[in-house]
Parts: sequence; C-alpha cells; structure tokens
Amino acid sequence: MYDAIIVGLGPAGATAAYRLASKGFKVLGLDKESFPRYKSCGGCVSTKIDKILDFDISGTVEATVNGATFSFRGERSLDIISDRPVGYNVRREVFDKFLVDRAREAGAEVLEGRKVAAFNDTGRSVRVLCATGESFDARFLICADGASGGVARRYFGLNPKESAVSLTAEVPYDPSQVEDIHGRLFIDFGSVPYGYAWIFPKKRFLSVGIAGESRRVGGRIKECFSEFVSSHSVLKGMEIPRRVGCTIPLYYEGIPRVVKGRVLAVGDAGHMVDPFLGEGIYFAIKTAQAASDVVAGCLEAGTADTDGYQDWLSEEMYRSFSSLVRLARLVYNHPRLWYRMVEKDPQIMHRYYDIIRGEGDPEEFYRWIFSKVKQKPWKVLRGWVESRFM
Ligand SMILES: Cc1cc2nc3c(=O)[nH]c(=O)nc-3n(C[C@H](O)[C@H](O)[C@H](O)COP(=O)(O)OP(=O)(O)OC[C@H]3O[C@@H](n4cnc5c(N)ncnc54)[C@H](O)[C@@H]3O)c2cc1C
Repeated sequence: MYDAIIVGLGPAGATAAYRLASKGFKVLGLDKESFPRYKSCGGCVSTKIDKILDFDISGTVEATVNGATFSFRGERSLDIISDRPVGYNVRREVFDKFLVDRAREAGAEVLEGRKVAAFNDTGRSVRVLCATGESFDARFLICADGASGGVARRYFGLNPKESAVSLTAEVPYDPSQVEDIHGRLFIDFGSVPYGYAWIFPKKRFLSVGIAGESRRVGGRIKECFSEFVSSHSVLKGMEIPRRVGCTIPLYYEGIPRVVKGRVLAVGDAGHMVDPFLGEGIYFAIKTAQAASDVVAGCLEAGTADTDGYQDWLSEEMYRSFSSLVRLARLVYNHPRLWYRMVEKDPQIMHRYYDIIRGEGDPEEFYRWIFSKVKQKPWKVLRGWVESRFM
C-alpha cells in the first residue's frame, strides 16, 4: 500500500512525487512514456518559479528572457525589453527529466512505460490499473496526466472543448547565422483567432508555435501556422521540420471540482493553465505542491478530507485566472486595438511582465486596461464592453 500514487510525471506529477517523497511518504509515480520524452511546448518558464522551488534549475536553462519583440501579423515590430528577467527558456525533454530525477532522488519509486487505464476509489484506498495488467494500491491518487491523458478529465467531467489548439515545431538553427535574438521571445498577435504565435529561442533550436481557442480556430490552425512562419523575418529561409499538434486545457469559468474523495487533479489534467497566455508549467508545479501538502496533511491526520485543496484553488488560483479570462476576451476579440495600445504605451507590457514575474495582480491589471479602453470612442468602447460577456 503506497501513501500516494501519481499518474503522469510531467512538471505537475514529478513535483507531487518529489514533495511527498521529501516528506518521507511512500510514493509511486507512473508515466506512460520513458524520460526523456518530448512534450510540445514553448518551454518558457516564468521567473516566479524561483519563489516556489527548493532546488536550482539553472542547469536546465538555455536562455534567460528579459522581454519580447512583438509584432502584428509579422509586421510593426516592437521591442519591449525589461532590465530584469521575465522567464527562462528550457527544453522540455531536459527540464522534465530533471524534475523526475529530483523525485527519484527524494525517494519516490518511478515506473516508466506504465499507462494508467483505470482506477477505483473504494473509500478506504484507491486501486490503480495499468494497461500492462499490473495494479497498485494507495491511500491517495494524484492525477497529473496532462492534456492528453484523459484520466482526470473523465473522472471529474472536465470539458475538453475548453482548450486552445496548437501547432508547434522545433526548428534547428545556427545562432551565428541569425540576427541577435538572445534574451528575448518573439510574439505575434493577430495571426490566429483568439490566440497568438511565438518563437522562443533555445541554444540550438527555435520553438515555433501558434495557438488559439479551439472553437474559434476550427480547422484553420495549419493555415495560420504556415502564414505565420512565412511572414516572420526571424524564420526567413529556415526549413520547418515536423509539426506537432497539441491541445492546451485552459482554465474556464464553471470548471467542475477537481477533488473527489481520495483523488485530486493537478496541472493540465485539471485545466490549471493561464487562459490569457497559456502559461502552464508554473501552475502545474504550484498546484501539485498545494495538492501534495493537503494529501500530506490527511496522511498525517489519518483522514481523507481533501477539500482544502479545492478551497485553496478557489482562493489562490481561480480568482486570478478569472481576471485573465476577462483580459483574454478583451485582447483577443480586439487584437488590432490591443496592439495599437501597446505600441502607444509599452508600459502596458512592462506591467504585464510584473504579473508574469508574480509581482502584479491580474485583477488590477485588467481594471487598469479597462480604464484605458473607456477613454476610447464610444463605438470601440461598446465593442469591448460587449466582448466581456461573449
Ligand atoms: C504548444 C504549447 C506551448 C506551451 N508553451 C508553454 C510555455 O512556453 N510556458 C508554459 O509555462 N507553459 C506552456 N504550455 C503549457 C505546458 O506545456 C503545460 O501546462 C505543462 O506541460 C503542464 O504540465 P503537466 O505536468 O500538468 O502535464 P504534462 O507535461 O503534459 O505531463 C503529463 C504526463 O502524463 C503522462 N500521461 C498521460 N496519460 C497518462 C496515463 N494514462 N498514464 C500514465 N501517464 C500518463 C504523459 O506521458 C506526461 O508525461 C504550452 C503548451 C502547449 C501545448
């Protein structure tokens, strides 16, 4: 009998395994893949990660980012670079394996190549069945099976349509052959409905991608991707290799509970992704830590009262995410107007960098932007106000 089983060992699952094993609990982590494994991702981790990790990740960082060069449909280039870091670019195969190694070192048992097919919460414990035919028992189950797993989605009734669709490619490049792109991201608005496109430089690869809300993008993601890569100056003359499609399970209003009895969902499995930028690595780690602490408390007290995790989510995560839902509506319903505002007042982006750093309040930012919009002519204003309710 394990104290906890963790399904999926991306940043969320590896963190949960690390956290609980570090506290001396008997932990089993299961992943259907073997590490290192590829994960479609921009791979930019916000610097607020520094405040929540108790180990150093600098060995996995390929570039520290101080800002971005923005564009609108490949044009109107705008550099907004801060004097302080905003994020770290990592390669997910390296970063995720590093986290799994930390979990192992802390004492978690890790089994790779184990796809979890089903589980059953008996009330006293949880039995987990793998596609290999093996079964394991634990006092608690943490579902960290990401966007593609479906284990948490089915159990908690999460809506897969509340997602962004994306297409990405890892483009090899020779840094000496490209204009100076060090220390920045490239972000393009207007190239995809209700989303954005990006180039996140690593040492020898450019992570190139595009993502937009699935209902609005429909089947046009490939078309948008091709237009973006052909219009962006950084990618001129580069060969774009294999493209990978993936969904991004965004936080949404009316999200169901992700705690039931002895089972909890963390990270992408529970739609813990910022609905404005699609940032998920930090939130995967943060929610995994919170869920693990609640499970640890239950194990110590001999109870199964996991509601504390749901309360924490409502208080600490969902309030900010709700503000970001409203911000996304404003920005992505009116990308041209948003871009014009940023061009006129780059301070907007500097203030948003503070939010990414974990130093600003999304609700205040939203109100500040909304007050700026209120000064616009009435037709524009009416469009923005209406978009709040769409
Ligand atoms: C195109 C794209 C770009 C992104 N860019 C960024 C970015 O730049 N910065 C950022 O912060 N976030 C970004 N994100 C979001 C980020 O990738 C996720 O939020 C993050 O990976 C969530 O971590 P996780 O551990 O919850 O899930 P994952 O990293 O997806 O890990 C889930 C794990 O579960 C395993 N698994 C699945 N099903 C099963 C099963 N049945 N049994 C056992 N194991 C299973 C998988 O093999 C996987 O290892 C991006 C996402 C996409 C799609």
